[in-house]
Amino acid sequence: MTKLIFEKSIDDMTGVSLSEDNSSAENSGINPKFLRKEKPVLPEVSELETMRHFKELSDMNFCVESGFYPLGSCTMKYNPKINEYIASLEGFTQLHPHQDDEDVQGALELMYKLQEALKEITGMSAITLQGSAGAHGELCGMMIVKHFFKVNNEPRRKKVIIPDSAHGTNPASAGMCGFEILKVNSNEKGQVDISHLKELFEQYKDEIAAIMMTNPNTLGIFEEKVQEISEIAHQNGSLLYYDGANLNAVMGITNPKIMGFDIVHLNLHKTFSTPHGGGGPGAGPVGVVEKLKEYLPVPVVDYDGTKYFRKYNLKNTIGKIKEFQGNFGVLVKAYCYILMKGKNLKNVSQDAVLNANYLKEKLKSYYDLPYDCTCMHEFVLSGNRQKEKGVHTLEIAKRLMDYKFHPPTVYFPLIVPEAIMIEPTESENKQRLDDFVEAMIKIANEAESTPQKVLDAPHCAPVKRVDETNAARHLDLRYKPEE
Ligand SMILES: *Cc1c(COP(=O)(O)O)cnc(C)c1O
Repeated sequence: MTKLIFEKSIDDMTGVSLSEDNSSAENSGINPKFLRKEKPVLPEVSELETMRHFKELSDMNFCVESGFYPLGSCTMKYNPKINEYIASLEGFTQLHPHQDDEDVQGALELMYKLQEALKEITGMSAITLQGSAGAHGELCGMMIVKHFFKVNNEPRRKKVIIPDSAHGTNPASAGMCGFEILKVNSNEKGQVDISHLKELFEQYKDEIAAIMMTNPNTLGIFEEKVQEISEIAHQNGSLLYYDGANLNAVMGITNPKIMGFDIVHLNLHKTFSTPHGGGGPGAGPVGVVEKLKEYLPVPVVDYDGTKYFRKYNLKNTIGKIKEFQGNFGVLVKAYCYILMKGKNLKNVSQDAVLNANYLKEKLKSYYDLPYDCTCMHEFVLSGNRQKEKGVHTLEIAKRLMDYKFHPPTVYFPLIVPEAIMIEPTESENKQRLDDFVEAMIKIANEAESTPQKVLDAPHCAPVKRVDETNAARHLDLRYKPEE
C-alpha cells in the first residue's frame, strides 16, 4: 500500500528554502494575535520525496491517456492537448472576473461566440454558460421551469415526469426545486411507454410542469416518439426538458429543438472534451427557446455590434446560479474543440455511433443484450448469463482492470439487471476496440471455465476490493494524527 504523505514525514525535513527573514513568524508582518501558537500538523518531506509521492499516486490512476475508458453515459473521449494549451494562455488565465467589460473584450467575445455555436448545435434561442456541470444545469433548468409557471400564474404545476431509465441527477434536480416526481415506464423497446405517459397526463393534467428526457436515452436508444411526446406535453401546457449528456450521439445530425424541447443542458466536459474523471471542473450551459429567453440567469454575454458586454437586465431572470461567468477554462476548451472540428463536428457523432454498434455486434453473443436494436453512442449489456454461473457484473468489471481496461458503467440504468453500459466514444480505433472485445470474450469464457479467477479480481490493481458502502456512509478523507 502506498503510504500517506503524512506517514512519509520526517521531523524538520523541508522541501523549500526560505531566507531567515521570511521564515519566522515574527518577521511575517502578520498581527501576532492571528499567529498560531503551535506548529500545524503538516507533512515534512523533501522536494524529491514530494514529487515521488505524487508521481506514485498518478501512476495508480487510470485515465484516457493510459487506456480505453468505456464508461457509459460519461463520454470519456480523448481531450486534445491543444485545448489545454489554449486555456492556459496568459491572456485567459491572468484575467480577473471583476475587470470592466472594456478590458476583457477577448474573453467576452469567446463566451459570446461559444454561446452562438451552442445555439446552432442545439437549435435553442439563448444560452447561459454559468452552470458548472450537467447536474447544475439541470437545477438551473428546473428553476426556470418553476419560475416560468410562477410568472404565468400556474402554481398548480408541481409535478415533473421522468422516465425510469433516467440518470439519478434528473429526479434529484427536480426534487431540489420542490417538484414531485412521476415515473414513466419504459416499453419493451427501451423507450418511453407512450400509453403510460398519456395515462399520467390524463390523471394529472395541469399539475404537470415538465417532462425531463435524455435522447438518446441512457440505454443508448433513440426515442423515436420524441416529437409525439413533445406534442403531448405542449398540448397540456407543460415544458420539455432535454438532458444533453448524450449529445455526443446526435451533434450536427439533429438537435433538441427539432425534437421539440424547450430547455437543454449540455455537459461541455463530456461532449466538448475536458478531462473530467476526477470530478471536475466541468461546465453545464443551459439553452432555452425564445419564450424562455428572459428567464435565464444573469449575466448573459451579449454583443451590440461594436462591443461585447455582460447583460444583467433580463425581465424574468431566475437570478444568479454561479459566481461570475462559470468555469471559464472549460468554456475555452469547449470553444477550441468546436472550432477545431468545424463543419466536421457531425463526424464525431457518426464515429461514436459506429464504434458503439461495432462493439455491440461483436459482444452480443457472449453477453445478454436486453434491447437488441441499432444503438446510438452507447449500449447496455446484461451480465445475467454470467450471474447464473455465480459471476456478477461487478466482478466482470473488476476483471477488466486486470486486462488494463477501465470498467464500463455498471448497474446503471437501473431497469437492466446486472447492467454493463459501454460507451467507446469516437476517439478509439478499431485495434483498441478489438482488444476490448477480446478481453470481454476472455472474461465470458473464464466465467464458464474458471469463475474463481473472475471472482477474485482484480489481481493486479493497486487497491483490490473497496468497501464502497462503508466509504459512502462514513466518508473520511482527512488525515488525523494519532493522539
Ligand atoms: C453525466 C450525466 C448527468 C450529470 O452530469 P454531470 O456533468 O456529471 O453533473 C446527467 N444525466 C446524464 C444522462 C448523464 O450521463
